[in-house]
Amino acid sequence: MSAVIIDGRAVATQVETEVAALIASAPGWRPPALHVVLASSDPASATYVGGKARASERVGIRSTVHTPPVESSTAELLELVHRLDADADVDAILVQVPLGPNADSGTVLEAVAVDKDVDGFHPANLGRLAAGRPRVTPCTPQGCMELLRAHGVEPRGARAVVVGRSVIVGRPMALLLVNADATVTVCHSRTRDLAAVCRQADILIAATGRPGMIRGDWVKPGACVIDVGTTRVDGRLRGDVDRESVEPVAGLLTPVPRGVGPMTIAMLMRNALILAARRRPQGAPALPW
Ligand code: NDP
Repeated sequence: MSAVIIDGRAVATQVETEVAALIASAPGWRPPALHVVLASSDPASATYVGGKARASERVGIRSTVHTPPVESSTAELLELVHRLDADADVDAILVQVPLGPNADSGTVLEAVAVDKDVDGFHPANLGRLAAGRPRVTPCTPQGCMELLRAHGVEPRGARAVVVGRSVIVGRPMALLLVNADATVTVCHSRTRDLAAVCRQADILIAATGRPGMIRGDWVKPGACVIDVGTTRVDGRLRGDVDRESVEPVAGLLTPVPRGVGPMTIAMLMRNALILAARRRPQGAPALPW
């Protein structure tokens, strides 16, 4: 048997359509204003930000991209972020990481106002997620949860293994799965016998940036495998999962590209709407989430 390939783009389109309809349902309400800070020469970051701007246009979110010089210092970026924090017309702020060589991303991310933190990376928002009372949750892991939901994969009672422990993906992913009653193991570069741990997973999330690392004999037959990894190899985007050997074993599998990537952007749109509706409830659409 071969795995069902999850169409992330189709699920993302459903989410975007729902966000667009909600915004359109409140014609007298100012649409959410999303401000993105892009201070990097990384071509991948520019591509992601372009994708986010196009999605904003599709759903009716007002998006502005700030491009301070790549050499900007932490203090210079803090000044910009503080200005956006203080601007009443700004609902949501996204600082695209990595930043340039002279800026400390942790300090800059922590300067984003907690109620405008659209990525949910602020320690206060990650803390709320850990406490089981999230405000907005990081887009990529939340997108993975939506893919599970859309395909009827029930985390409750399932054994989930998350490979990767970054603040952006692995850690919040594990917290979301714990909050959804899965039994979760978090793995990283120091994990012993990683293959054996992965083989126990009903839900296996790969978020390492090591192309093709997860092989078919690491996967429990019928498992749901979510491949978050995106690494450019010879001009092509590769995931962490070796599709050729995993596809015949897994029950469900996300491809790269068109798996998790489109969901990250769709969840960003949803988060921007959530933050705007919380900040300006007067006339805002009633949200189902
Ligand atoms: P990081 O580099 O911050 O983290 C990678 C994690 O993987 C670390 O915890 C690291 O362990 C672990 N790791 C690395 N090598 C191994 C190994 N051989 N065995 C076990 N664990 C290992 O990356 P991110 O979390 O930011 O991103 C992960 C991947 O997801 C990247 O490919 C990135 O491009 C992609 N990504 C995709 C998104 C999307 O929308 N599709 C969004 C965000 C990221 P340790 O902590 O011990 O170093």
